[in-house]
Amino acid sequence: ASIDTKFIRPAFLRGGAAKQYDFDLLVIGAGSGGIASARRAASYGAKVAVVEMGRLGGTCVNVGCVPKKVMFNAATIAEMLHGMHHYGFESGTVQFDWGYIQRSRDAYIARLNKIYDTNLSNSGVTKLIGRASLAKDADGNVEVIVSPSDSDSATNSSQRRYRAKHILIATGGAPTIPSGDSSIMKHSITSDDFFELQSLPKKVVVVGAGYIAVELAGILQALGSDTSLVLRKEKALRNFDEILSEALDVEMQRQGISIFRNTMGVSRIKYNKSNGLKKIILNNGKVIKDVDVVIMAAGRSPLVDSLGLQDVGIQQKDGGYIDVNEYSETSVDRVYAVGDVCGNVELTPMAIAAGRRLADRLFSANPDHAHAKVSYENVPTVVFSHPPIGTIGLTENEAIEKYGESVKVYSSKFSNMWYGPFQIEASEKPKTCMKLVCAGKNEQVVGLHVIGIAADELLQGFGVAMKMGATKADFDSTIAIHPTAAEELVTLF
Ligand code: FAD
Ligand code: NDP
Repeated sequence: ASIDTKFIRPAFLRGGAAKQYDFDLLVIGAGSGGIASARRAASYGAKVAVVEMGRLGGTCVNVGCVPKKVMFNAATIAEMLHGMHHYGFESGTVQFDWGYIQRSRDAYIARLNKIYDTNLSNSGVTKLIGRASLAKDADGNVEVIVSPSDSDSATNSSQRRYRAKHILIATGGAPTIPSGDSSIMKHSITSDDFFELQSLPKKVVVVGAGYIAVELAGILQALGSDTSLVLRKEKALRNFDEILSEALDVEMQRQGISIFRNTMGVSRIKYNKSNGLKKIILNNGKVIKDVDVVIMAAGRSPLVDSLGLQDVGIQQKDGGYIDVNEYSETSVDRVYAVGDVCGNVELTPMAIAAGRRLADRLFSANPDHAHAKVSYENVPTVVFSHPPIGTIGLTENEAIEKYGESVKVYSSKFSNMWYGPFQIEASEKPKTCMKLVCAGKNEQVVGLHVIGIAADELLQGFGVAMKMGATKADFDSTIAIHPTAAEELVTLF
């Protein structure tokens, strides 16, 4: 990050405020948001510490974006191999070695953990290893207590207490297994455990309808597992624009994923000791037999249980998420929260941006930063499904609700040129679908939705355009790049 050096060592430090505190900023959680905020604050000369009970980098690096993207890439290679004969390559016998990619992936993550460690040290941020919680001292000031990570005891003698001028909670979240029959918890795994699997499951059931469910189902099916997706309702990604949920549904079926719809969830799981296989009984009476692995991907919850939020009066909202205002302030003075623990937009770049803006606002002497905060509007996001989805802004329905009759929609459905030489029926060729949702007299683009090859890579630039308030006319006046899929977005009529 580029910091203007003339803003280093601002007035707050010269006033000696740090003397009555151990730190100017104490961050709980060294994940995406916590590390970003800690390093940005330290770059302004603040005395910063970060407490972490697990591996540096948090969810994204260890059990999220990074290992997921590696597996997505492996699955993409499998898909290419599947179609390579259409480009004149002889397939022969290609073996996939799960153990190999697992080891390389984990070695890559271990390198990233080290890089995070080095970056924190180079930034002058103090690392405190352990589990943090909050408590009030005799004067009613909020303190941070750090206990050994493996201890649940609040009275442990090895606890350390710290006072900080500002405290940031960036503890993220963890997968939730829906309540119900105890057999579900006992015989299923979560996305965290997916990354621990020692071999490719022969037959796998993924339960859920969000990002994680469709991403893992797509990866597993492409790598060769017999994959089923269990939905509570009719379709996955229900909250996304219909063009995306519909096209993904068609594509998942084309790939051979068995979709169980309107199941109302899992009733119970029976485990057969003699062969190690499972039988899944769904709430609509349907049964899936001979399953090796059941992955519950039905949502996540904030990691707040051991923080002692109630003890210090920090308000929470539905689901236990920490309630913050637009400046990441909690209900307690000088205690803030960013990232998944707030449950706003649960994405790594969002946590990073919120963490950095907070540090800018608290520690930068640049007057432009006095009101720094993040915007949760027009956040570009990608689902690494097969094929990937890219989406920004409002769905068509949301736009109609907000802008009424002024909404105009442009859409397109076509086969990517990639499939041009394929000797298969046109109807068999996977489709790319795109939609622009425009509103108002000037047709400002308020929603952009794409599913298809490279949707993940093409989205970022359109995110910039929408952030700048681009209109349909701006899109139309942009010269297309040919031949690409992205050109379709500037030639829609
Ligand atoms: P985290 O990164 O989770 O960090 C929280 C840290 O706090 C953890 O290291 C935890 O150990 C620590 N902690 C918790 N409690 C305490 C405590 N009491 N004391 C000390 N330490 C504590 N986002 C994307 O943008 N793109 C993706 O492709 C993507 N893929 C994902 C795939 C999966 C499978 C998952 C699960 C998530 C994915 N995400 C993705 C979401 C992304 O990982 C999160 O939004 C992001 O990591 C949130 O960052 P955070 O700083 O809020 O929390
Ligand atoms: P989501 O909240 O995205 O999706 C979970 C879905 O599972 C629910 O919407 C619900 O859909 C369904 N569900 C809930 N309960 C049950 C149940 N009992 N049985 C069956 N299905 C159920 O959660 P995820 O865990 O997938 O992901 C959490 C967040 O992490 C995401 O929202 C995203 O912000 C982030 N993430 C981002 C990624 C990326 O950027 N590529 C990748 C992975 C995660 P319904 O109501 O339709 O049943």
